[in-house]
Amino acid sequence: MRICGFNKTTLLDYPGKVASTIFLGGCNFRCPFCQNGILVVAPGEQPDYSQEELLTFLKKRKGILDGVCISGGEPTLSDGLEEFLGKIKELGYAVKLDTNGSRPKIVKHLAEAGLIDKVAMDIKACPDNYGNLTGIEKPDMDSIFETADFLLHGNLDYEFRTTVVRELHTQKDFEEIAGWLAGAKEYYLQAYKDSDGVLRPGYGSYTFEELQNFQKILQKTILSVGIRGID
Ligand code: SF4
Repeated sequence: MRICGFNKTTLLDYPGKVASTIFLGGCNFRCPFCQNGILVVAPGEQPDYSQEELLTFLKKRKGILDGVCISGGEPTLSDGLEEFLGKIKELGYAVKLDTNGSRPKIVKHLAEAGLIDKVAMDIKACPDNYGNLTGIEKPDMDSIFETADFLLHGNLDYEFRTTVVRELHTQKDFEEIAGWLAGAKEYYLQAYKDSDGVLRPGYGSYTFEELQNFQKILQKTILSVGIRGID
């Protein structure tokens, strides 16, 4: 496990909680719009925080913080994740896992072991468009479907979310996602923001009004659909 980044306090990453976010290096996708590009392609060049350092910090902050968000990269690829989460849970924290959904067995195992309290799963696009959005020629959609199904039909708290990129998404994506995730309880459209940290910078965002149109499409089958990232 390589802990490449650590945000001591956030009110955004774990909705409803005052949390810390831990960023684990490495990912099996190459989403061109990825905001953490360096963490994905060159995790070895990033800082490497020790688990002890973070656990000591979390121990001291008990009572001030109440959640820990495990993000990446793709955290389910990291060796030793289960043991690390066990130590965080021993401190009494709620844990939210951010995942691209490519490793359903790990997500299920962590949930069944009581090591995660919430999952935020990226929905990159409609299934046909996943290759373009993940930078992978043939993404394993069966695994993505399995993770989404587990969340849709299980007891674990979750949210689905899509970073919406003008050049990569069309209305068809949201019409198909509405069918795929019908009955979901919580979904967020996140406006893409360009920055130097993006894997392939230069993309644009949809306007708020355009995102609202996608929101209306999703609201036909999904209970709660929010928009994030518009100032
Ligand atoms: S957006 Fe997420 S899944 Fe895609 S490359 Fe970045 S860390 Fe990996």
